[in-house]
Amino acid sequence: MIDFSSFHKLSYGLYIISTEFDGKKSGYAGNTGFQVTSNPATLAISCHKENYTCGIIQQSKKFSLSVLQKELDIAIIGDFGFKSSENTDKFAKYQWKKGVLGIPVVTDSCIAALECEVIQEVDCGSHILFIGAVKEAEKLSDKAPLTYEYYHEHYKMLAPKNAPTYIDPANLQSEEEKPAAEKTDDADMAEHICIICGYTYDPAVGEPSLGIPPGTAFEDLPEEFTCPICSAGKDYFKKV
Ligand code: FE
Repeated sequence: MIDFSSFHKLSYGLYIISTEFDGKKSGYAGNTGFQVTSNPATLAISCHKENYTCGIIQQSKKFSLSVLQKELDIAIIGDFGFKSSENTDKFAKYQWKKGVLGIPVVTDSCIAALECEVIQEVDCGSHILFIGAVKEAEKLSDKAPLTYEYYHEHYKMLAPKNAPTYIDPANLQSEEEKPAAEKTDDADMAEHICIICGYTYDPAVGEPSLGIPPGTAFEDLPEEFTCPICSAGKDYFKKV
């Protein structure tokens, strides 16, 4: 038997993975990045085949991994994690630099950055595991790293469907383990969840980043309201 809630006990960080091929910059936010060996230093990332960046890494054979800091504006995760580099310039709004391997390295809200050359690709079905030799590594600050647990608990975000760690809510057993979207609440002041990225609008809190005061019901938000994370319109929200 597989108790899927046990997967929630695994701990991860959150990273911005970037690459570039033939002038096309591409990147995504992901939680699967880990050191495989120390001598020589190698890292691995697990990338969904439908993720646009996956195909670009297969061509460039290089990637950078930037370690996100604990306290940040989660718009960076919304932009890198819930949009596609195919039709969005994810780098336009954020600080980054050209790395020694000629690929973008995101430095915005990041505490360390490593650049790798792919030495092995492992086809894992839905995902490709890229193992990379570390060619450059730089510490950017002494701030604490963002953990996946803190991201879920503090920022109330879900894992996108393409994340290796995505768990179908139907597979979670207890009510507490289900995302907020699965629970029920009162009518008017009900929370609303963005079905694209998992951001939850809580009327009791409002949305300080958009100047929306506490006590504003979802129905009373302006029609031009968009998700602060992924920019989806009100139609993409459902009542919790
Ligand atoms: Fe959203």
